[in-house]
Amino acid sequence: MRRFAVLQLSGCAGCEVSLLNAEEWVDKYRLVYMPLVISAYDVPEVDVLLVSGGVRTDEDLYNLRRAVQRARQVVAVGTCAISGGVANLGDRDEVRALFLAQAERRHLPHLLPRVRPVDGVVTVDRYLPGCPPTPELFMVMLFQPPDFKASRIVCHECGRKKLKDMRPIRLIGFQRGEVLPDICLINQGYLCVGSSTRGGCRAPCPRAGHPCVGCRGPSDTFIDKLSSEWFVSIQRVFAAMTDIPPEEIGAALRSPQLALFLFQFADYAGTGRPPRPKEKVL
Ligand code: SF4
Ligand code: SF4
Ligand code: SF4
Repeated sequence: MRRFAVLQLSGCAGCEVSLLNAEEWVDKYRLVYMPLVISAYDVPEVDVLLVSGGVRTDEDLYNLRRAVQRARQVVAVGTCAISGGVANLGDRDEVRALFLAQAERRHLPHLLPRVRPVDGVVTVDRYLPGCPPTPELFMVMLFQPPDFKASRIVCHECGRKKLKDMRPIRLIGFQRGEVLPDICLINQGYLCVGSSTRGGCRAPCPRAGHPCVGCRGPSDTFIDKLSSEWFVSIQRVFAAMTDIPPEEIGAALRSPQLALFLFQFADYAGTGRPPRPKEKVL
């Protein structure tokens, strides 16, 4: 039986909960390490090591470097592992000051100067983006079924219709107002970025009436390009479908809520790292 482990760095444990919501692996894989549910001192030898969370502390760094030595394949799972995700918020000066203000917190693992993605520290074989990736995507990553084919973008999985004659003039805030069924959320004034977000999740958010915030990251078209190109593409979609001022869209796209996801793959400028090869990204 193949063995896998889940190494949790700095994140929220949502990725682990999503994995536990899938059951298919139980018969074919043995989970040998995952602090959320299995008590073990260390990561043993495994076929697959899933790493969630960003490298935020010296403890994360130590655990990651040790764990990869015992793994045949390393998978970066979720936005935090790929780009830092929510742990990036701790890079803000006021958050750091708050964290260090109380003496008892100084006995926790030391914060690194900045959060780092997993592949900024070790070699990663595959990437599984999402916040969190859906249970089905975890299964696809573990089993690689030949018949699974992710759609190129979320819109192709959503099922809502884009209308030509329904052009909003303002954005509606998240979770405000009534959502009409079957009609594209952009037509209704919501900031949905599914048009250039990579598919595979089966669009649970727009199907349920919540705009896609892009947690799966850019589609293959944009994955090795700068985020600015993704921004331009989203702006183009809104210009074609709405009369909302472009500045309003631009400001909303740069809000912390969305920026965490929209910047997760493509900002290589100044990092010295090459783009992640798209064939490694599920
Ligand atoms: S990627 Fe999302 S769900 Fe996973 S650990 Fe980070 S914040 Fe949580
Ligand atoms: S933009 Fe959003 S709501 Fe509209 S079709 Fe695409 S995913 Fe669905
Ligand atoms: S619909 Fe968008 S936000 Fe929701 S899971 Fe899919 S990619 Fe993430």
